[in-house]
Amino acid sequence: MEIRARIEEIKKLLNQYSYEYYVLDNPSVSDFEFDQLMQELIRLENDNPNLKTPDSPTQRVGGEVGDKFEKVRHDIPMLSLDNVFSYDELREFDKRVKKAVNKYTYTVDLKIDGLSVSIKYENGLYKRAATRGNGVLGEDITENVKTIKSIPLRIDYLMPLEVRGEIFLSKKNFNKINQEKIAAEEEPFKNPRNAAAGSIRQLDPKIVAKRNLDVFIYYGFGLEIQNHFEIIQELKRIGFKVNQNTVFCQDIEEVINFIENVRNYRNELDYEIDGVVIKVNELDLYEKIGFTSKFPKWATAFKFPAEEVETRMEAIDFQIGRTGVIKPVAKLNPVMISGSLVSRATLHNEDFIKDRDIHIKDYVIVRKAGEIIPEVLRVAKEKRSGEEIPFKMIKNCPICNSDLVRKANEADYYCLNPLCEAKHLEGLIHFASREAYNIDGLGEAILTEFYNDGYIKTIADVFKLESHREELIKREGFGEKSIDNLINAIEASKKNNLDKLLFGLGIRHVGAKTAKVLAQVHQDIFDFINLTPDELANIKDIGEATSNSVYEYFKKKENIEMITELKSLGVNTTFNDERINAKTVFTAKTVVITGTLIDFSRNDAKQIIEKMGGNVSSSVSNKTDFVLVGDSPGSKYDKAIALGVKILNEDEFKELIKNG
Ligand code: NAD
Repeated sequence: MEIRARIEEIKKLLNQYSYEYYVLDNPSVSDFEFDQLMQELIRLENDNPNLKTPDSPTQRVGGEVGDKFEKVRHDIPMLSLDNVFSYDELREFDKRVKKAVNKYTYTVDLKIDGLSVSIKYENGLYKRAATRGNGVLGEDITENVKTIKSIPLRIDYLMPLEVRGEIFLSKKNFNKINQEKIAAEEEPFKNPRNAAAGSIRQLDPKIVAKRNLDVFIYYGFGLEIQNHFEIIQELKRIGFKVNQNTVFCQDIEEVINFIENVRNYRNELDYEIDGVVIKVNELDLYEKIGFTSKFPKWATAFKFPAEEVETRMEAIDFQIGRTGVIKPVAKLNPVMISGSLVSRATLHNEDFIKDRDIHIKDYVIVRKAGEIIPEVLRVAKEKRSGEEIPFKMIKNCPICNSDLVRKANEADYYCLNPLCEAKHLEGLIHFASREAYNIDGLGEAILTEFYNDGYIKTIADVFKLESHREELIKREGFGEKSIDNLINAIEASKKNNLDKLLFGLGIRHVGAKTAKVLAQVHQDIFDFINLTPDELANIKDIGEATSNSVYEYFKKKENIEMITELKSLGVNTTFNDERINAKTVFTAKTVVITGTLIDFSRNDAKQIIEKMGGNVSSSVSNKTDFVLVGDSPGSKYDKAIALGVKILNEDEFKELIKNG
C-alpha cells in the first residue's frame, strides 16, 4: 500500500479507537494493538515529515471532550506522556535529557491504569475537579470526585493549589462491579481503566459513590518547592493519598533496577498498572529540557509488554454473531493473566488456527493484551504428547445445523440461514443498542427474555410490544411502570432518523458512519431497492464490499417486507436532514479545520458546521470555502493562504455561529 494511504488508514483507525476509548469508555481493540499502530504512524511520519499534519493522532493529547458535563479550561495544559517499550529506548530518553542539562535526578512512580484528574483547592477548600479531556479542555466532575473518600475536602494549605492524580478502581472493586453487571446480564467493563472512567462520568453522584473509586495524587502546582520528589512528600504531609511505591533515583540504571523490582510484585498489587513513569526531579530544568505539544520531554512512561501465559486448550467452541459469522474460540484451562482469570481466548478463524498449527489439547501461549479479549498466540509444540487432535472446521451451524459457507476472499465462515435463532437474537440486541436504534430499557437481558418467550422474534415485533402490555405488566420483575416506560421509549424511537434504522438493520459493512453517508444521499429507505451496485459504489466513501452488501440486502424480498411492515407500524423510514432547512453562512460550503481550538473540540466544531449546512473536509483545495484556524495550525493554513481561501479564527467562528 502506498505510504500516504497507509498513514490515512492508521489515522482513521486511531481516531475511531480513541473515540471508543475516551468518549464511549468502551474500546474495541487492546491498548497493545493501539500502541503498535501509533508507533507505526510515528515511524511513517518521521520518515516522511511532509506527510505529518497537525491534526494527526501523534500530535494530540487524549480524546474528545464529551458533552455530558460542563467544560473546564485547564490553566496549565494536562499533557500526555511519551512512551518507551524497552530499556534501550529508556536509555535513549536519558541521553536526550543529558544532552539538554547536566545534573539531574529522577522520581519514578507506578503508572496507574486509570484516568487523570485535576483538583483545585482555594483557601484550603476543595473547589473543582476536571478530567484531562483533550488536554486544554476537560469535563467538570467536581461533584463526582467529591465522593472519593481519600480526597480531602479541606486542607491546611491556604494558597491556591492544583493537584493532579490518577483515579482508579481496585482489582477487587472492578471484579465486584463486573460480577454485578454479569448477573444483571449487562456487558461487563473491558478493563479497570474503562470502569473507572465510566464510573466517574456517571451523571448521578450517588451511583459514583457506590463504585468505591480511589485516587493516587502524583503532582501539585502551587507549592513553593522546586523538586518533584519533595513535592510528593509535601502533598503526602498535607493529607493527599500518594502511592507508597514512589522512589527517588540517582540515575537511569537505578530506574531500571526499580522497574525490574516492580515486575516482580506487579501482580500482587490491588490495582492495575501498565508501566512506570519516570520524571526529572529538578523543576528549574524543565524549560530547558522542553515540551512537545503532546508531552513533556523531561518525563516518559515505560510500558510493560502485554503479559503472556501458557495453559492447556481443552476444546474449541464456536460462537455465532448477528451477521451469521462463526468464530472459533479456545476453551482454556483457566489461568490468571494480569490479575484476572481467563478461560476463553479468540482464535479468529480457520486460517489463523491452521497457520499456527493449533491442535485441540495443545499447550498454548495466551496474551491478554490491554486486558481486552485474550488471544492465542502460538503453540508450545515441545509439550505435545501425541494426544492432541488436529483442528477441523465445522461444516454446519452449531445452532440450526444448516451448511456453513466460506465466502470468496474471506477467512470467516457464515451461517446463511435467515431463520437461524442465534443470529436473530444477536441482531435484535444490536438493533436496540445505544449506538444503533437506542431504545432505552431494551437491553440484552430483557430482549433475551422476551425473545425466548416469543414476544419479540423480529424487529417488527419490537414495535408491536404494546399489544402484549396486559400480560407483560403481570410478569415477575416488571410491573406497570417499567413496561409503560419501555413502551414509551419504543414509541419515541420511531422518530429516529433513517441512518439509525439503516445501522440497526445490521447490514454487513454498514457501520454508524456509513449509514449516515447512505442516508444523507438517499433519504428514503425505499430508494435503496432500485439502486444498482454501481450506483451505490459511486457514493462518496462507499467501497465495493459495502455497496455489494447493501445491494444484496435490498434485493431480498423478506427484507423489503419487513421494512414495509416497519413503515406501517409508524417507524420513520426517511432522513430528516436538519441541515437543509435553514440557510446559513455555511450552507453548502466546505470547511477545513486546522490547529487546536480552545473552546470547541474538533468534533463539536464539525457538528456545528454540519448543523449549519456545511461540510467538513480534511484537505484544503480550491473547492474549500473556509479554513477554521486554531492554535499551532499546520500546512493546511499555509495552503489556504496560498490558494486565497477565506480564513476564520476562533472568535470569528463564534461570531458566525451567534449570527447564524
Ligand atoms: P498514557 O496512558 O500512555 O500516559 C499518560 C497518562 O498516564 C497520564 O495522563 C496519567 O493519566 C497517567 N498516569 C498514571 N500514573 C501516572 C503517574 N504516576 N504519573 C503521571 N501520569 C500518570 O497516555 P494517554 O494519553 O492517557 O493514553 C494513551 C494510551 O491509552 C495509549 O497508549 C493506549 O494504551 C491507550 N488507548 C487505548 C485505546 C484503545 O482503543 N484500546 C484508545 C486510545 C488510547
